[in-house]
Amino acid sequence: MANMIMRFPGGLPKALTLSYDDGVEQDERLIEIAEQNGIKGTFNLNSGAFAKEDVVYEPGTIHRRMSRSRVKEVYKNSSWEIAAHAYTHASLVGLPGNIATYEILQDRKELEETFGTFVRGFAYPYGAYDDASVEILKNCGICYARTVHSTHDFHLPTDWLRLPATCHHADPELMNLAKRFAEIKDWWDPMLFYLWGHSYEFEQFDNWGVIEEFCGYMANREDIWYATNIEIYDYCNAFSQLIFNTDMNMCKNPTSRGLWFSYGEKDVYVPAGNTVTF
Ligand SMILES: [Zn+2]
Repeated sequence: MANMIMRFPGGLPKALTLSYDDGVEQDERLIEIAEQNGIKGTFNLNSGAFAKEDVVYEPGTIHRRMSRSRVKEVYKNSSWEIAAHAYTHASLVGLPGNIATYEILQDRKELEETFGTFVRGFAYPYGAYDDASVEILKNCGICYARTVHSTHDFHLPTDWLRLPATCHHADPELMNLAKRFAEIKDWWDPMLFYLWGHSYEFEQFDNWGVIEEFCGYMANREDIWYATNIEIYDYCNAFSQLIFNTDMNMCKNPTSRGLWFSYGEKDVYVPAGNTVTF
């Protein structure tokens, strides 16, 4: 048998996504920089910790959460995904089960009301998680949850509820990893570059240049799919539902989206709801 490799939409071999936490004012500038370069991702928000509508911060305050109306305005017209990050930013580890459930579900519910959308992603506050938190997230209908582990590689996650990143934006290896990712041609696996951080850190360390350089370098590449976290999850999940015959020359796509893979030398596209021979 030949090797089979999942491809992203359009038959692309690579995907890039960002993940930024807390809903702070600096997200607005981050959206601008990323979107200028065709890049997007996911914002992880705490809907029980939005700032008061009339908030005025002390001069020099770096961590400036936005109010609900500002949050709505800033993200609603962007192409980014909204995900949960616990209602009050409490660490799930150590909380009684009912309270951890509330932290997740109430955040999900209020974000869904605010944005009129489905909220199915999560980032662990403080990166803290255990087996009990994973079970609760599953019961709350959360599909993936980001940790703060860095892999320094480009494999798709094997466990979406303990999702590691490629790296944080302050990682000294950032641009080396970006170059490796961009330059690799024939990898034997679909490749994902997953970057995370907090946008207030760019103000704190006066280094907006880090994300400008990264986005500028990664922009406009023909082999990269620029996606949100949930778009990547949904694509992989749909792909796992493909049905193949034993001779491995016929494939049925029971899902509602087009799917791509390569099999040996062949590039195969299976339209939604269709069966193809290859
Ligand atoms: Zn946070």
